[in-house]
Amino acid sequence: MKAFEKNIRKVEPYVPGEQPQQTVIKLNTNENPYPPAPGVARALKAMDPNRLRLYPDPTAGELVKTLADYYGVSEDQVFVGVGSDDVLAMCFLTFFCSEKPILFPDITYSFYKVWANLYRIPYECCPVDEHFRIVKEDYFRENGGIIFPNPNAPTGLYLELSEVEEIIARNQDVIVIIDEAYIDFAGRSALDLIEKYENLIVVQTFSKARSMAGMRIGYAISNPLLIRYLNDAKYSFNSYTMSQAAIACGVEAVKDKEYFEEGIRKIIKTRERAKKELEQLGFVCLDSQANFIFVTHPEYDMKVLYETLKSKAGIYVRYWGSERIEQYIRITVGTEEEMDALLGFLEGYK
Ligand code: PMP
Repeated sequence: MKAFEKNIRKVEPYVPGEQPQQTVIKLNTNENPYPPAPGVARALKAMDPNRLRLYPDPTAGELVKTLADYYGVSEDQVFVGVGSDDVLAMCFLTFFCSEKPILFPDITYSFYKVWANLYRIPYECCPVDEHFRIVKEDYFRENGGIIFPNPNAPTGLYLELSEVEEIIARNQDVIVIIDEAYIDFAGRSALDLIEKYENLIVVQTFSKARSMAGMRIGYAISNPLLIRYLNDAKYSFNSYTMSQAAIACGVEAVKDKEYFEEGIRKIIKTRERAKKELEQLGFVCLDSQANFIFVTHPEYDMKVLYETLKSKAGIYVRYWGSERIEQYIRITVGTEEEMDALLGFLEGYK
């Protein structure tokens, strides 16, 4: 080892799902199978390349205002970033500075551990129960902050807002972050609690229900004080996070409420059909409230199934092989036709 290596920050990075470049059926990273709102294409076409000479608005003011109007909050309650990963990473940096461990579930978004390690934040994982449910009582103890997704990933299980509220209410001395990447496919959002709890931050994304994973837009909504702290950290890191294209397209996506809601309805309908048909084929599906289904099968080895789907059918799903979930795969809800192809292949699978 070179002497300088001891001064290098070493991290074990997050491993994203594969992004194959050839045409395959891609059900592995919870992208939306439908295009974004038509206004997004119009905004892209209307962009003047000459404007790209200039830096974008560092406040992303237009996007912040559009989101604030949409959610009925003030502009100083909204923070935007380059996907919710960027927003969450900023939240970890800003709010999790205690010497006490932060808490999150053992089965959850695997990036949390990566950020905790990157920033040297102590953490403890609270095991989800045998049905993969978050046990709220595990979070009723001293800690340096709390984060969990609702619905959780990769299980898709939704925690009722009353239980989410109990966790927030019992932890008013620390910051509680609810990662709502998939909330649009589920139930009530913790945004309803923003005015009631000063320690709450809700993070959402344009990557799932708004079909814009490639544009990288995420946001946090909270009270003006916490949003100011987030902005202070952001401006100490990178002022120009949101490109001109992201700002313009993001605004158009939020404006088209009807398209957004119709897209969600379609995905939920396909999800429920796929769950039913998978169960008819002997799969056990968790009751996902997201745009993916977490499944196992009593007779199949899920790693073999994952590999076979990829090599024989060109169908990509997600497999982790990590503790407690070795026998599960996560299937993103695609179009009806994509799910037909998957179900057709599984029907002939032995
Ligand atoms: N949170 C959860 C729970 C996720 O599954 C994802 C998607 N991988 C993200 C956040 C980040 O999504 P994005 O950065 O695209 O907004």
